[in-house]
Amino acid sequence: MIHPEGNSPMARAPEADPPTPPSHRPAAVPAFPWPAGLAPRSSGAAAVAAACAVLLAACSPQGPAAGGDATPAVQQAHAAVAKAADLSDPATFADARRGFIAAPTGQVKDAGNQVIWDFDAFAFVQGAAPPTVNPSLWRQALLNNQVGLFKVADRIWQLRGFDLANLTLIEGKTGWIVVDTLTARETSAAAMAFARQHLGHKPVSGVIFTHSHVDHFGGALGVIPAEEARARQVPVVAPAGFLDEATSENVMMGVAMGRRAMFMYGSRLPRDAKGTVDTGLGKAVAFGQVGLLAPTQVIDQPRQELVIDGLRFVFHNVPGSEAPSEFVFEIPELKAFCGAEMMSHTLHNLYTLRGAKVRDALKWAGYLDDSLQYTAQAEVIFNQHHWPVWGAERIRGFITRQRDTYKYIHDQTVRLMNAGLTSSEIAETLQLPASLHNHLNVRGYYGTVRHNARAVYQHYLGWFDAHPANLDALPPVEAGRRYVELAGGADALVAAARKAYDAGDFRWAAELLKHAVHADGKNTAARELMARSFEQMGYLAESAPWRNFYLTGALELRQGPPEKGIPRDILVDMLQHTPIERFLEAMAASLNGPKAADVTLAINLVFSDLNQSFVLRVENGVMHFRRQAPAADANATLTLTKAFFLKMMTGQAGAQALLTSSETRIGGSTIDLARFFALLDKPTGTFPIVTR
Ligand SMILES: [Zn+2]
Repeated sequence: MIHPEGNSPMARAPEADPPTPPSHRPAAVPAFPWPAGLAPRSSGAAAVAAACAVLLAACSPQGPAAGGDATPAVQQAHAAVAKAADLSDPATFADARRGFIAAPTGQVKDAGNQVIWDFDAFAFVQGAAPPTVNPSLWRQALLNNQVGLFKVADRIWQLRGFDLANLTLIEGKTGWIVVDTLTARETSAAAMAFARQHLGHKPVSGVIFTHSHVDHFGGALGVIPAEEARARQVPVVAPAGFLDEATSENVMMGVAMGRRAMFMYGSRLPRDAKGTVDTGLGKAVAFGQVGLLAPTQVIDQPRQELVIDGLRFVFHNVPGSEAPSEFVFEIPELKAFCGAEMMSHTLHNLYTLRGAKVRDALKWAGYLDDSLQYTAQAEVIFNQHHWPVWGAERIRGFITRQRDTYKYIHDQTVRLMNAGLTSSEIAETLQLPASLHNHLNVRGYYGTVRHNARAVYQHYLGWFDAHPANLDALPPVEAGRRYVELAGGADALVAAARKAYDAGDFRWAAELLKHAVHADGKNTAARELMARSFEQMGYLAESAPWRNFYLTGALELRQGPPEKGIPRDILVDMLQHTPIERFLEAMAASLNGPKAADVTLAINLVFSDLNQSFVLRVENGVMHFRRQAPAADANATLTLTKAFFLKMMTGQAGAQALLTSSETRIGGSTIDLARFFALLDKPTGTFPIVTR
């Protein structure tokens, strides 16, 4: 990360810069030689982008947006927010600082001297909220700025603010049991070094992964090298399904998710009062080397006890709550409980705006209800984001409110669905009761009531609101052209939007301008006014992802989509654990159906080091694969190692390498092999979102 203030290469663009012309969809990558082209289109690329979905908070590759000032309407709204709640919230700030030992400064760099993490990047977040940030979000940003090493309880410490999530250390009989290992090897190594500097040297005697999201395991190899973990037989404990979910969860949709994540995490935004100030969960995500330790002990029972380095743990699986594979655990001897990410000091996501399958609110609330029993004896609960909660009564209150917030959103959305309201009407209507809303730890800093209500609707009823006009509505450009015509031309539409903007009706301004920009992406007046509307909506937002979405939308209206997608080579250590089948599934989903409609091909894929071979068949515009011996009727046979396959998947090996490497061999028709790979699409992960 580079601090957006000061003399960074990302110095602010002059405000008078004309907006860039609308970008076009990326040009096709040459069809062959394929590996160079394969990489971006492949499942490897998808997997990389997927795991990168939360890895994007590195420096912005282009300059910041032209950041306007907050309008009076926004400032009035902020004043109302500040008046309605005590945002100074001394008890919570005391919790966030409790047990503080020391704070790091400076930067964490990778082997190539690239800055992976900057402890000073958010130093501007201090004092009163600026007019361009919702004061409630500012409070969360201030709380997440409480960075450093903290003593949680006897034998428990946390490192916060070294990455998006927390790294927790629990003192075992012989060393440290590490709970979650951050996103990147670089940041986790920095966290461990910082802990040792202040707590003395102890070996790692256990690793616990609470769930399958990359911000909780990606830095595993910075905590302990895989060889050492193996040699010393260090237990690596994870919930049921962890390895599958961690390595494969987003392989299929990675490109789209990665692109949308740029919006959600504001990775292209400056870090300042007109840019990104927080993610709601933590400051940002580190963008370094991602790896994984395969679990040696999987918790596969709903409740399971395990002694790790002399300390008794009681695990409870909570699959399908915040992650498909997740557990929480008690440490009875220490009267402590870890709520993983099922609990946090925010309303979490039932639907993640970067795009994901929706989560089950009812299950989530149910697990939280169960947790009231697990924590009956606890004196502290610590979670893998944010700060702990101490004291039986406060723990009970905290969990109860988390539970009831999800339950309320679920039950009331269902009630309103059954009363005939659509998802947008429910989002507009639903509000938490004061007994929940007044507690800031369930506010929508990450998820929001509005988009979570839509998630519940989607979970049960899907995308269709049952209105026939919406069954086959015109797509954006077609609709936009007609609305512009109806309005009496683009200028008239923009004039109406300007009126709405001046009245503080930014949502309506954006709705109108959306049609103008869809109808004509070169309409710079419409683009600029929509950018300004998005800015004001971003400034209004209490949710960090909402803010980041709006502000990134504004940036892209002015500058266009990014030139590059996400780098892919950082994930090789993790992808080694991904089964070949996941890559092939994603490869099948990159087959260009119309192009392949009349093609019949069979390709043998032989992994010389895995003792595995697959037959890939293309017919009827689809690709099937089967793990089996090479087929005699195949057009071509490609023999390679998994290591080489991964290099291709992550763009490190090109055509030259394929043809000359000692790790590959091509049999049969090279031309047919080329034809096959030419059928696979090559998304670059830079597609436009606010324009078409
Ligand atoms: Zn997390």
